[in-house]
Amino acid sequence: MKFLVYFLIAALGFSNLPSGALDMDIQYPIEKQIVELQDTINMIASENTNEEEKILDAEKVFIEIDTDSPYWEKVIIYGKHEIDINVKNGKQGLVMEFPKNFIVNGERSFKDEVNGTTILDLEVTNIDNHQYLFLQHKADMPVRIYKDSLEPNIIHIAIAKTLNPYPFKVILDPGHGGFDSGASHFGVHEKDIVLDIALRMEHKLKDLGIDAIYSRRTDKFVELHDRANMSNKINPDAFISIHINAAPIESPRGIATFLYTPNGFQKKEREELARAIQDSLIEEFPDWKDWGILREGFYVIKYTKNPSVLVEFGFLSNPEDRAMLVKVDVRERAAKAIAKGIDIFLKNNNDG
Ligand SMILES: [Zn+2]
Repeated sequence: MKFLVYFLIAALGFSNLPSGALDMDIQYPIEKQIVELQDTINMIASENTNEEEKILDAEKVFIEIDTDSPYWEKVIIYGKHEIDINVKNGKQGLVMEFPKNFIVNGERSFKDEVNGTTILDLEVTNIDNHQYLFLQHKADMPVRIYKDSLEPNIIHIAIAKTLNPYPFKVILDPGHGGFDSGASHFGVHEKDIVLDIALRMEHKLKDLGIDAIYSRRTDKFVELHDRANMSNKINPDAFISIHINAAPIESPRGIATFLYTPNGFQKKEREELARAIQDSLIEEFPDWKDWGILREGFYVIKYTKNPSVLVEFGFLSNPEDRAMLVKVDVRERAAKAIAKGIDIFLKNNNDG
């Protein structure tokens, strides 16, 4: 709003104020002058929410700093429209180029918020037709820049607070891939849905201090024993296989999480991991049938040595479930819920 108010002062001073208003210093102390002037401006500004102001609002880009996470400090840049900014990695930080002169700090200056341990400075510079935001951060800190696919008007810039911001790591294992579509119904393939959900989890986990490693990030076939071997080699804190169920008849639907505990191996950990994920999914989707925790000797949870589970998120063979699974926001919410379950499990198991 600041920018607008200043703009209005300029416009106002000469047209709307009664003549002689600029001579007030003779009658009032300075403070009083300012208050009076401010009142007038606020009044005019609130009456003035017309088309002109809307256009300005639509072009503005706001910047916020979030220092709450123990792992990352974040600069969040958002506008009304999808933002395309050009980011360059300089020696002491990032340089972001905006196409227009439209950075607004919101109600207060973002420079006041630079109080974390990693972000050292934020500065806006105007050069010709462009505006540059310079973000200086501590040297060598890992940086992630990403957009949320549901909110492409928001850009997240995360700068690690420590050299290793990942006290935990998990393997995400989207089922099937390549020639192996998994379940296929009416042109909807299990392999595509599970890959989409898994990829949506990456930054949600990383924000929580959990590194996400993938058995596949693209539509390619990976052998089951390669998935299990990968996990046994990397030794993650958890292994999460993501699938969509299917049945020979249409009626079965709902969500289940599978585990395998041969001779009670990791019984407690695997049950807790499965419980946390299943509960989180049912909390997010309370209307879906809750199959609870089931036991099965699926290859990837049978031959992995770390706490491992396999999620069957809905039935592709059921018309209602299928109608849900094709929706972007459902997959986004599933990603969020599974990530939350993983986080709960990891943090409960590492309290002391
Ligand atoms: Zn499957």
